[in-house]
Amino acid sequence: MAFEVADKDLLGRIGRLKTKRGVVETPLLLPVVNPLVQPISPREMEREFDCQALVANAYLLKKDFGEEVKTLGVHNFLGFDRVVMTDSGAYQILVYGDVEVEPLEIAEFEEEVDTDIAVILDVPTGWNTAREKALYTVEETLRRARSTLDSLNRKDILWVGPIQGGNHLDLVAYSAKQIEEMSFQLCALGSPTQVMERYLFNVLVDMVMTAKKNISLGKPLHLFGAGHPFMFSFAVAMGCDMFDSAAYSLYARQDKYMTDYGTIRLENLRYFPCSCVVCSKFTPRDLWEMPPKEREKLLASHNLSVCFAEIRLIKQAILEGRLWELLELRARSHPSLLNALKRLHEHKQFLEAHSPSSKDRGIFFFDSTGLARPSILRHQIKLRKWHPPAEYHVLLFLPPPTSKPFHKSREIKRILKSLDEGLVDVSKVHFCVYTAPFGVIPIELDEVYPLSQFEASFPPDLETSDFVISEVRAYILNDNHGCKTVVLHWEEDDFGIRLARECEDACSRIGLDFLSSKVRGKTWSKGSVESLVLQVCFAVRKSMKGKNRFLKKTSEEMF
Ligand SMILES: [Zn+2]
Repeated sequence: MAFEVADKDLLGRIGRLKTKRGVVETPLLLPVVNPLVQPISPREMEREFDCQALVANAYLLKKDFGEEVKTLGVHNFLGFDRVVMTDSGAYQILVYGDVEVEPLEIAEFEEEVDTDIAVILDVPTGWNTAREKALYTVEETLRRARSTLDSLNRKDILWVGPIQGGNHLDLVAYSAKQIEEMSFQLCALGSPTQVMERYLFNVLVDMVMTAKKNISLGKPLHLFGAGHPFMFSFAVAMGCDMFDSAAYSLYARQDKYMTDYGTIRLENLRYFPCSCVVCSKFTPRDLWEMPPKEREKLLASHNLSVCFAEIRLIKQAILEGRLWELLELRARSHPSLLNALKRLHEHKQFLEAHSPSSKDRGIFFFDSTGLARPSILRHQIKLRKWHPPAEYHVLLFLPPPTSKPFHKSREIKRILKSLDEGLVDVSKVHFCVYTAPFGVIPIELDEVYPLSQFEASFPPDLETSDFVISEVRAYILNDNHGCKTVVLHWEEDDFGIRLARECEDACSRIGLDFLSSKVRGKTWSKGSVESLVLQVCFAVRKSMKGKNRFLKKTSEEMF
């Protein structure tokens, strides 16, 4: 296989793609070059930006320089010794209507110019296309895909199968399945450019995830026309391995300055928030006073630096298992990116199923946008199937102790010691901690990654509190292993009051006694823990004798 995965986080991966010009590392950004209007030469891209690969448009190359490119080969023609991908010109069809070239003619040209990665001449679906027309673009692309593959003379070029369908997700799924069955080495998701130009990143999430669910995970996925660096992390997290971008140059021509959080017009900038070679040397005013061509080149250079820096940041985040946190950060750049992150929640099962389960570093939980993280869902699924090692009579819910792992904390040790001194059989007590973002952590599990390797902001927001409460409730209702009484240690704030109500309700539904241990003063103060221990002792002793109506009465009196 031409593609190997070295490291993963979410669906994002650091991979190695073997081409006839050597190996390139993914995620890979391929800047689009157009020899007619190119602010930074391919040679400079290679030398100054260490650019591994670029994209040129086969249709434009053929139209403007046909024989010259054939004679020199695309690498010599462009002056670029590394990997070249040729896009077929399908986007020009979308923009300018039909082009006067046949799919097989383009494929032949791509072989003749010795490209490394080639795209067939597909028919982009475009944005908001009527279903009938969209279906035509899918079928016609598939027809062209088959005939192009049949016509190929060389075997050393990697061919890309474009997935069409636009925002008709059933068509995207159908298209992806069909392309997957053909002998393409790479897949690509077609025509999201207009979706991205309109900042419809939530639509993009559905399109990419649909494509991803219908192709083999081992195959690299290219995203056409991924413009702005602030969405690269989303594309990577959803499993896009490569993307081409012309935005660095198009923006420069319009005096637009890219940042990793958005775009700023040069005339609105007084300071450059960047340290690339351009921004360290010049001020916005310097650039503004330059001749337009010179300014365009410097802006393109800065824009490209930002793009490549973002790719490096994403790769480092994959290594560290921090890709989700990078998404949360980028989601604060623009509301439409936050929409995308929320949309990703709809696909959390797929993310969970294919994300690695262990990383060296712990996770940071900020707010409810993090609830779709694979590790949280994974814990939830595990809890539904898990049972404590021994039968117990009392289920004790505690707020988080002050250190992790919880079972080694001072607080839990103190409770155990006191119960022991009270001659209570502690094996009859099942200790659980309720906490954001995991909901319920039985202390037997608290050394399982990342249940002791997380930091959560406090107090949790409303959605996160709701999640924790519903997890506690589900844990009580899920349990049938000899439990007779639930004891809840809780603080009298809004969260605690709601939690206690839900616990009591869950207990009454399945006939368990509920004993409320309301914190007086500080959660872990001596008095508070002593009172809790008394309640637990009481519950254990009573539960050994069977159900006790008195307990239920006590709990009702406490509300
Ligand atoms: Zn800069």
